[in-house]
This record gives sequence, C-alpha cells and structure tokens, in this order.
Amino acid sequence: MNTTARDLRSREEKRLAAKADTRPRVTLSFYRYVQIANPEAFRQRLLDKWNSFDCMGRIYVAHEGINAQMNVPKVYWNEFDTWIQSQPELSGIPYKIAVEEGDAPSFFKLTVKVKEKIVADGLDDTSFDVTNTGQYLTAEEMNEYVNDPDAVIVDMRNAYESEVGKFEGAITPNVETFRDELKKTPELLRIHKDKKIALYCTGGIRCEKASAWLKHNGFKDVRHLKGGIIDYAHQVKEKGLPSTFKGKNFVFDERLGERISDEIISKCHLCKKNPSDTHYHCKNQICHTLFIGCDQCVEKKDGYCSWVCKQVDKLPENTKKVLARYYNIYIRKRQPFKKTRLAN
Ligand SMILES: [Zn+2]
Ligand SMILES: [Zn+2]
Repeated sequence: MNTTARDLRSREEKRLAAKADTRPRVTLSFYRYVQIANPEAFRQRLLDKWNSFDCMGRIYVAHEGINAQMNVPKVYWNEFDTWIQSQPELSGIPYKIAVEEGDAPSFFKLTVKVKEKIVADGLDDTSFDVTNTGQYLTAEEMNEYVNDPDAVIVDMRNAYESEVGKFEGAITPNVETFRDELKKTPELLRIHKDKKIALYCTGGIRCEKASAWLKHNGFKDVRHLKGGIIDYAHQVKEKGLPSTFKGKNFVFDERLGERISDEIISKCHLCKKNPSDTHYHCKNQICHTLFIGCDQCVEKKDGYCSWVCKQVDKLPENTKKVLARYYNIYIRKRQPFKKTRLAN
C-alpha cells in the first residue's frame, strides 16, 4: 500500500485498508533532542522512506528533534533499522518496542508533522538549562524507589493515563495536559523538597524536560525512569523482576493501552461500578470522547458515551455538521464524567 504524501482516503477507508493488511508489525516509539536544521526537508525524507516500507504512525519533527510513535511491517524491519542507522540524526536512537502484539493495528496511516516543539510543554526553553536533566533510573532502581520511604514517585502523565495504571504509591497530579502538569508539580512537591524524587512517563520524553524543569525550580535529587513505562515493562520481563507498576500503560495509538500487570485499578465511567480499564472513543464522531467502559455498559449504550450521543448520531449529516460547532460546549456541561479528547 504505497501512498503519496497526501492521502485523501477517508478515515474509515484507511482503517479498513489497515485492517485488511494483516502482515505482522512491530509497534515502537523513539525520540531524540537533536538539532534539525531543516525540519521540512527532514519530514520529506522520512515520508519517502517510511512510505516505501508501508510504515504507519504519528511523528513530530521540530528544530529541536524528533518524537515518533509508529509501526513497521516485520518483513521490512531490518531494512528500516539499517536506514535509521545510516541517518546522522537518528543513528543509535533507542527504540521502545511495544510489549503487546495484538491483532488490532496500532496506527492506520502515516503522518509526519512539523511542529514548534516535539512535546507541547508550554515552557520557554531559553529561561532555564534544558540540558540539565536528571539521572536515569533502571527498572531495578525504580522498584527500590517505590519501596523507599525517603523517595517520592511522581507520574508526569495526565489524569486519564494514570487512572488505568501507575506505580504503587505514585503521586498522580489531576491534570489534562503536560503544560498543566509542569505548572502544578513544583508547588505540589514543595513539601518533598529534601526527598529523592523519581519521575516517570510513557516512553521517557516528557521526563527529559520535566526533570530539568524541577531542578531549575530548586529540587536537588531528581531522577527519571529511563525509557518510561514501555521500557520498564521490557526490563521486568527480561530480568524476571516483580512489577511495581499496576494496571495498564495508556498509549497514544489505536490500541489505547498495553497491559503491564493483571490488576484493574479503575472503574467504568458509565455505571461507576464495574471494574474496567478499557478505553473507548464515543461512536458519535462529533463527540469522540475518550471513556472507560465495562462490557455491559458498552453493549447497552451501543458504543456511545451517552443516550444523547446516540440520538444525535441518528440526525442527518448536514444537521450534525451544524451541531458539531456547539456540541462539545453542550456535552462538556451535561456529561457526568470528565470529557477527554486526545491531542492528535
Ligand atoms: Zn459499566
Ligand atoms: Zn459521546
């Protein structure tokens, strides 16, 4: 399935085509802070090559580096890796490979976007030393931290991510964006200023910035989990360590989560009763809210987050188009649970 730079097929057509392509794929993520002189040209280089390997995913490039979440058909893996190693900006970049190899595709198209920054953190990078990052922690060291009363574990992810999985005893700030997380954490951790601080996130990229930011805010002993939860899960498996991470690792692709341990730590948002950590997007495209649902509720509500969404979805397309403008304001007010939409 070779596609040109601009793919005009509808979302549904792409999803169907991706599903029909049953070749086994490696899902991976990687990032690097590296000077990229011409992000536009770099973007084109990635698109040309990765389209030829039928890769899919979501990649951000900026002058400051690259942040990629993608999949590669196994048949092209060696060629893909060889090409990566031949690129000066990418050579030796650590891959974080997904644990689960489900049958559902992780992505169904390839997008490479040029951005101002590879992670939206809202910080002015000239106002502090971004290279003064914390030391890394291995999985073993993270486990020691979890069991150490003099250590504080901080989840640098958003509330909807920590809701389904987190390290035992971790502080999980109730925020919806990484910007808010960075605003909130220095104040939140003030009482722990003299303790050892361990940060973690999905794949490690957010902690690079967050550790430097906390050090700038006067915290002395700040470390972060190398390669994030994704790499932690690999190390735990390889070395036969106990997992102090409970539940699911939320991921930003079609799978929405990777199971790390058997515990289910969250409840269905609809009945607020049954344990569940399965995320869904509301079937009503103009709502598309992310919610946790149990099997019974999802079946009863037919994949919609609410009765209203189901009724609205029956309206003619034109009416829906007009409604779409106002719908989210309306639905945010009347929904019983917090509305979350993933930044894409
Ligand atoms: Zn339920
Ligand atoms: Zn809905």
